[in-house]
Order: sequence, then structure tokens, then C-alpha cells
Amino acid sequence: SVFEYAPAPESRAIVDIAPSYGLFIDGEFTEAADGKVFKTVSPSTEEVLAEVARAGAADVDRAVKAARKAFEKWSALPGAERAKYLFRIARIIQERSRELAVLETLDNGKPIRETRDADLPLVAAHFFYYAGWADKLDHAGFGRRTTEGGGGAGPRPLGVAGQVIPWNFPLLMLAWKIAPALATGNTVVLKPAETTPLSALFFADICRQAGLPKGVVNILTGYGDAGAALVEHPDVNKVAFTGSTAVGKAIARSVAGTDKKVTLELGGKGANIVFDDAPIDQAVEGIVTGIFFNQGQVCCAGSRLLVQESVQDELLDSLKRRLATLRVGDPLDKNTDLGAINSAEQLARITALADAGEAEGAERWSPACELPSSGYWFAPTLFTNVTQAHTIARDEIFGPVLSVLTFRTPEEAVAKANNTQYGLSAGIWTEKGSRILAVAGKLRAGVVWANTFNKFDPTSPFGGYKESGYGREGGRHGLEAYLDV
Ligand code: NAD
Repeated sequence: SVFEYAPAPESRAIVDIAPSYGLFIDGEFTEAADGKVFKTVSPSTEEVLAEVARAGAADVDRAVKAARKAFEKWSALPGAERAKYLFRIARIIQERSRELAVLETLDNGKPIRETRDADLPLVAAHFFYYAGWADKLDHAGFGRRTTEGGGGAGPRPLGVAGQVIPWNFPLLMLAWKIAPALATGNTVVLKPAETTPLSALFFADICRQAGLPKGVVNILTGYGDAGAALVEHPDVNKVAFTGSTAVGKAIARSVAGTDKKVTLELGGKGANIVFDDAPIDQAVEGIVTGIFFNQGQVCCAGSRLLVQESVQDELLDSLKRRLATLRVGDPLDKNTDLGAINSAEQLARITALADAGEAEGAERWSPACELPSSGYWFAPTLFTNVTQAHTIARDEIFGPVLSVLTFRTPEEAVAKANNTQYGLSAGIWTEKGSRILAVAGKLRAGVVWANTFNKFDPTSPFGGYKESGYGREGGRHGLEAYLDV
């Protein structure tokens, strides 16, 4: 069977996790000033993986000072020199990608097939892509330098970037943030999410391996208080945040009245729109990728399925048959489709929202599947008879839960797709090219996929409309967020 192409679980032994880790400041691993630590657990087993230093305000200050000091030399380097470091980092990531994929799977809970085939290749691709930009910034319409070494007209780096990222793609979100910042000559203090600190610390080790000058990248593991201290630090010039809309709004308020530049990548409630002429099998695969990739813990997940009424029955029959084949379980097993939910808190949030869907009258369905007894698990779940007023049609669930709504006309599909506070992603499934263009043009979403879903590429700008945030990451637009011209 096709499922047996690689039957053995990936080996846990390939990654050497130390019992404890420090903060990475000015090129050295160091304890938190107040000696605080926290534990990171594997969500699929609840095994404690390591103890990690917990940064506080004093550590934020230390890291920002190191980044400020490093900025002078780093920003004055010719772009071609910065590119060499970024290419080196990209190559080391490729060389260590199996180790990093296993590490990410252990700390996050997502299947090894995803970390191996999606996260890690994309992480390396981002560093390669932005490495390629570093020596071209003066010649690509960003403005032109008139003297060597930073004089003359722009473009100029902003200074110290304070970056805060979530747990759903720990290393990939780090790459989205760090690669463009370094390519443009900024220095970085980054705080990974508290439930997934390890891959960022391994990345710190990669920076050392690549010979990156001290202080150019600093990693502060810790909680929201450290994130808040970082974005509020007076010597941070640029704030880049990916996470929940609630925290994004708090950050926007906290930097209001300062001269900090801010980009926010926040939540989503993506619509996956299937027209009656779409090839059903292909659409089913796209729907599955859209909502079950990374257990649905994806900001741009296709969490609302909008299906044209005339094909609803056929599509749902086919979708249910497909869901019955999904394998939920050990994320290190190469056959696994859905791994663990990232944390007990996230599991509780998903459970509460799914229960609300049932209580409000939507019809709940899951395929028969046996969930492991330890760890945090949630079965793939489908809700039909959903209306736009239902909580599960409005709130971001950030889990493997799909809400199905129907429409009759393209106009109705557009109106329903846009009926959300968010505006991050959408998908269109149809054979008609003219319809793709007409519908895409009316969707208020930063990314619209046609006959595919959750496809990412470092050359493409990514970001939100409305409460999904502002600013773009990826592509040329991702550089602009780190430059003054
Ligand atoms: P979260 O907002 O709770 O946490 C994100 C990060 O912010 C963590 O590192 C956290 O420690 C830190 N943080 C918490 N409070 C803070 C504060 N007051 N000031 C500064 N930092 C603070 O989000 P989460 O639950 O970790 O992630 C899930 C959310 O992220 C979802 O809503 C998802 O849609 C969103 N997300 C968006 C994108 C995107 O590109 N738009 C990508 C991934 C995830």
C-alpha cells in the first residue's frame, strides 16, 4: 500500500537535546538574570524535553544592547558580505534538516512528514531567497546609495528588530522574521513561543556555526511578559509580531506614540470556496490540506468550507470517505497525517469551541479513530448545518475543525467569504479561469489560492487584511518592512 513506503518511526535519537538551555545573548548562551527557568514538553507524550531559561525585562535589556552594538558593524557591511552569512546559515539548515525536523516534531507535536517535507525545506528556502536579495537592495528600485558604507540616499536598515513569534511553525516563523531582517542590515532580538522554544535555540547554535558576528541574532526564550518587554523596549526600532489578534492589538496599543515601525501577522478564518464545476477529488484533497495540515493550527487555514449547494452532498460524501483514511497518532511515524495539538491550553480552546458548535445546533461528525491515551489529541472534525451566526463560523478555532456552509451564486460566495473580522486567506475551486480572477478580485484576503491551498513560497508576500494584521512578509514586500528609503 502507498502508506507503507516508510514504515519505521523517525528516530528520536537523531537529535541530542540537552537537559537545560540558556538564553542566547551576544553570541553566548547565558542564564536569565533572575535565574528563572521553565520546562518544555512534547505534546504527543507529555515528556519533559528540556528546561529552558525564562527571560525577564533585564535580559531583554541585555539582548537589545547587544543587538544595538552589533548593528553598527552589521549594517555597514556590504550586502554581499551579509549574503555570505545568510547562505551559510541556509546550507547548515539543509545539512541539519533531519535533526531539526525531528526536534520540531518533538517540541510542537506536528507530523514528521510535515516538518521534513514542508517546514524545513521552506526554512532553508527563506534564507536562500533573502540571502540573494542582500547585495541587490541598492539596485532594485529601493533607492540608490551614492557612497560605499551606507552614505547617500537609502535604503537603510531600521536598527534593532524585536520579533515575537507563535508556536505553530516555530522555525519557519523564525525564518520569515530573521532572514529579511538580516538581509537588510538590521539586528534581531527574537522571542519564540513558550511551548516551542527548542528549535530557536538550535538556530542560535547554527548562527554560531555559521560564524555570524556576536549580537546580530539574540534569542530570548520566555513568556508573554518577555514579549511585552521586548516590543516596549525604547531602543527597539522595529516590531514584528505573529500571533493572536488579541495580543497583536495590545502590541499596537503599546507602541502607539512611539516611532517604532510595526508589522502584525494575526489570526484568520479562511474560506475555501468550492464551485459546482470543480473536480471533486482534487477539491477534497485541497480541503483536507486546508484544515488538517498542522492539525488546523494554521493562521491561514481553510477553516470555513463554502460549497455550492448543488454539489454539497457529493462533496461531503467524498470528504467523509477521505477523512476516514486520515491517520492520527505518533508524529514521529512517517505514516501519520495528524499529530498532537500543541498544548493542553490549545486543546481546551478547541474543545470549548467545538462544544459551542454542537450546543448552537450545528451537526458534528468525526471519523472513527482511536486517539493515544497520553498527550493532547483532537480527532478531525466536520460541522454541517452551520450558519454564519454560529460561533464556529466566526471565531478562529486553530484546530482540526471544519465548518461547512453553502452558497448558490458566486456573489453569495464572495459575501459569505468576506463576512468575517479576518482577511488572511481564501481558496477557490473551479475549472473556470475567468471565475477565479473575478472572485479573487472581490475577496478581502491577503492570499487567495486557486485550485490549491496552503502553498507557500518565499517569493510571495503573505499577510492580512482587516483584523488579520498589517504589513507583508515574504517576497520583496517582506524587505520593505525592514527598510527606510
Ligand atoms: P499568542 O498571541 O498567544 O502568542 C504569540 C507570541 O506572543 C508568543 O511568543 C507569546 O509568548 C507572545 N506574547 C503573548 N503575550 C504577549 C504580549 N502581551 N506582548 C508581546 N508578546 C506576547 O498566539 P499563539 O496562541 O501562540 O498563536 C496562535 C495565534 O497566532 C493564532 O491566532 C494564529 O492565527 C496566529 N498566527 C498568525 C500567523 C500569521 O502569519 N498571520 C501565523 C501563525 C499564527
